[in-house]
Amino acid sequence: MRLKDILDIYHKELDALYGKNEVDSFFDLVIEHYLNIKRIHIVLEPEYVISKVEEQPIFEVLSKLKLEQPIQYILGETEFFGLPFKVNQHTLIPRPETEELVAWILNSVASSAKKKPLKIIDIGTGSGCIAIALSKHLKTSSVFALDVSEATIEVAKQNAILNNVEVEFLHGDILKIGESQLDVESKYDLIVSNPPYVRHLEKIEIQSNVLDNEPHIALFVDDDNPLQFYRAICEFAQDNLKENGVLYFEINEYLGAEMVELLEHFGFKQIELKQDLYGKQRMLKGVK
Ligand code: SAM
Ligand code: GLN
Repeated sequence: MRLKDILDIYHKELDALYGKNEVDSFFDLVIEHYLNIKRIHIVLEPEYVISKVEEQPIFEVLSKLKLEQPIQYILGETEFFGLPFKVNQHTLIPRPETEELVAWILNSVASSAKKKPLKIIDIGTGSGCIAIALSKHLKTSSVFALDVSEATIEVAKQNAILNNVEVEFLHGDILKIGESQLDVESKYDLIVSNPPYVRHLEKIEIQSNVLDNEPHIALFVDDDNPLQFYRAICEFAQDNLKENGVLYFEINEYLGAEMVELLEHFGFKQIELKQDLYGKQRMLKGVK
């Protein structure tokens, strides 16, 4: 069949669900993934025909998109901070706001990391996106990453290999670690986390393709204890973060004030709240 005709079928079947532009970008990702070509090819060579064997996965993707499965899970890959990442139903799909958190960290530590290597831990690492992006850009640092889900750590390990970085992955529950040390040799210079922070009461704001496909253990917290993870990480920082070490969080946009209060309670200084590109209070930093 001509590739052009397959694109028409994609539009016919999916435009009502996703809109024309998004369908175009799905198609770009799909033909790049399976055929290693760009959509401009269709313009340059309108009669370009692909074989039945080549067609098959492209139509399989179409059926899954009709079921509103995320394209990242269908293709098993995505991009974060310009780097490739494998993802599956056990890992949260990395979000653009988390790229902003990584950029903030890199801007803030750029000069100090050049002077001395940093010891970093990413808590609730998921696909490993934060830990791996930091490791890639702070080459002399030693990076650790913790998650409670073994299945997601497996994916994160593959992502470290894919990106040619060394990250030490640890399996554990931050809510149970308390004040014990994860690596007894020395304390951390930097702790970063994007823990679960969506309250069940906010479920109505979450798109159904997120709700139906992404791991709930990565997203949701109890309505009456929404800062549970942040509190546990602050407790962990009491014993495991160096004096003048820095804590970075991605946070729930509605809980900025409560988060500042929490960091103050734990004695952090130079607390800064930062908005994301959409003007939402999304990131927080504090110095021990
Ligand atoms: N860091 C990744 C990112 O930014 O895309 C994933 C963040 S996701 C919002 C939260 C992660 O925390 C998930 O990977 C989940 O498995 C992990 N997690 C949930 N409960 C945990 C716990 N008790 N201890 C450690 N990790 C936990
Ligand atoms: N920002 C994510 C979402 O909107 C939530 C990430 C989290 O809970 N840490 O789905």
